[in-house]
Amino acid sequence: MTRAVGSIKETFVENELPSRTDRREFLGSIVAGSVAAATLLAKPAQGADGPQLAKVEPLPYPYDALEPYIDAETMHLHHDKHYQSYADGYNKAAQTQPSILAASPEANVANLASLPESVQTAIRNSGGGFVNHKFFWALLKKNNGAGPKGELAKAIDAKFGSFAGFQTEFTKAAATVFGSGWAWLTLGPDNALAIEQTHNQDSTLTAKHRPVLGIDVWEHAYYLKYQNRRPEYVAAFYNVIDWDSVSGRYAELIKA
Ligand code: MN
Repeated sequence: MTRAVGSIKETFVENELPSRTDRREFLGSIVAGSVAAATLLAKPAQGADGPQLAKVEPLPYPYDALEPYIDAETMHLHHDKHYQSYADGYNKAAQTQPSILAASPEANVANLASLPESVQTAIRNSGGGFVNHKFFWALLKKNNGAGPKGELAKAIDAKFGSFAGFQTEFTKAAATVFGSGWAWLTLGPDNALAIEQTHNQDSTLTAKHRPVLGIDVWEHAYYLKYQNRRPEYVAAFYNVIDWDSVSGRYAELIKA
């Protein structure tokens, strides 16, 4: 009578679980409850003036959202391992100094020279890594061939002659970073656009240049798919720039 066990189980399941519609509502309430719990957990324990740790948020899109230009495996490793490691390194250093914990990772990276010397290297490397990547995840989205919009489109045309002129300069900067680093489109204190490179995880914020666009050219950003062919990765990157977001950010920055 082995079937009887199954029958009892099935009867039990049928009797205990609500109707199909109720089940959906029931499952929905579990999801809503988890979200509410996660929101509570995400709140800083000591309010807005409490410690400002580097927090790894999930990517705002699926890991495979940038395929085929940036592969899902790279995104998993890059976000879940490398980014997490920068956040951990930053938090470890920040927790040694209450004054550092009281400011955001971005503010500390921007004010690097005024930090205690004992933590400057850790904040420069891990803090820079955290803020650079946080910025990077937010500007990625498949764009179906779109380009810059509005004020940014005008500023790029004025500075580089055309979007193609910008791409030539930006590509060159990204291709020629020696070793690990980033290429950026930045906005200086005078609101002038510039293309620049940083090495390792140095942030342009340290020089008071606000990033508008950035490309990570560390090998971990592309090696699984492109191996040593960095120029192919840089060319593919133009397909995953969220120009709505980048152009919107530019418009906000020039108003500030
Ligand atoms: Mn990276």
